[in-house]
Amino acid sequence: MISRMLSILGSTGSIGTQTLQLVDLDPSLSVAALAACSNVELLLEQIRKYQPKLVCVYREEKAEELKKLLPGISGSISSAGGTYDPARDCKVVSGMEGLIEAACFPDADTVVVSVVGMIGIQPTIAAIRAKKKIALANKETLVCAGHLIMPLVKECGAELLPVDSEHSAIFQCLVGEPEAAVEKLLLTASGGPFRGYTKEQLQNIRPEDALKHPNWSMGAKITIDSSTMINKALEVMEAHHLFQVPIDKIEVVIQPQSIIHSMVQFCDGAVKAQLGVPSMLIPIEYALYAPDRRALPAEEKLDFKKLTGISFSVPDLEVFRGLYLGIEAGKRGGTMPTVFNAANEEAVAAFLAGKIRYPAIPESIEAAMKAHTVTENPDVEEILSAERDARAFVRDYCAL
Ligand code: NDP
Ligand code: MG
Repeated sequence: MISRMLSILGSTGSIGTQTLQLVDLDPSLSVAALAACSNVELLLEQIRKYQPKLVCVYREEKAEELKKLLPGISGSISSAGGTYDPARDCKVVSGMEGLIEAACFPDADTVVVSVVGMIGIQPTIAAIRAKKKIALANKETLVCAGHLIMPLVKECGAELLPVDSEHSAIFQCLVGEPEAAVEKLLLTASGGPFRGYTKEQLQNIRPEDALKHPNWSMGAKITIDSSTMINKALEVMEAHHLFQVPIDKIEVVIQPQSIIHSMVQFCDGAVKAQLGVPSMLIPIEYALYAPDRRALPAEEKLDFKKLTGISFSVPDLEVFRGLYLGIEAGKRGGTMPTVFNAANEEAVAAFLAGKIRYPAIPESIEAAMKAHTVTENPDVEEILSAERDARAFVRDYCAL
């Protein structure tokens, strides 16, 4: 059995904690490094249990807080060798430099990128350069920098596997298939909690309404993105880069039960689909072990005797304007996907904080896109500069 040492960037989040559930199930997985933004309390628990040698807390004051707390948990830890003392054995770092250090940590062979937002770009690039195996959950990174990331993966001989369930499904459907035979990718979407709503019904949605996803339990930002269907727009761009398929050959199909995770149509008309219960443990596991599969004994399996139906429909691009805008941003390319994404990140954070209304999310993205002059084939600096401008634009536009 191959053993794997993980560095988990975003270990306190939904994907990060589910990755740690897999570590609990498999003695061949262990943890070399962890990173989060500020959740010191959960990091302390994770340090006690998984005994990493490096921890990054992005916010510096929170890293200082963690350092002060480490001696307090020292006595309570027993390890195989009986010698893990976090105050001595666990280095604490912070900021982007720290996040990059966790991404390149020599003890780790596999990096799970499960931070939320385009903050993932630089650590992902660093992990690729360090030739790590990368399990990538963070879609914003590919949306903004996929044109840099995918060639770099090839050039460095790194390996990058998707965690996002739709992309994992497509990846699995493509195993053993010739690239030239792919006619289109069929990206499924649940349609979120507001499927079938009119524009008028979306006017007064509150954060607590949008945070209720019918099928998936996820972090707050992606749950809001699912409700606006902006998540699906980001996934179209993610698929475009991952599988090198033009945007107009990626079709979004509403499949409300979230049983079919995505499909591929081939030139002879055959369609392959990947199905399963809506659980992220399966795609996370596949990203860690592919092309192998491990048993997930505790997971509920799809029971066709209980399945009453799988239905399909076409997304309403007028009501879900964000999906339309994202597809347009993807077709335009250059810095436009970054502007779409950064404006969305800024607007979603403001909506969650109760500062703007729900319809202001797509409205401010559209205004930011209209105001932007595209830079073609941007490098990392140009991407980050487009991000800063788009965020400032939205703050100004929404009077934040
Ligand atoms: P969560 O909000 O649950 O978790 C985000 C994680 O990122 C937390 O650990 C958070 O730390 C950490 N983080 C945020 N900012 C920083 C930073 N600046 N430096 C270091 N760590 C940071 O998000 P999810 O797990 O839901 O999503 C993570 C990514 O995976 C997203 O890109 C999402 O689109 C994608 N994804 C998620 C799915 C899901 O089912 N959840 C499905 C498919 C894709 P802290 O807790 O300290 O704030
Ligand atoms: Mg998804």
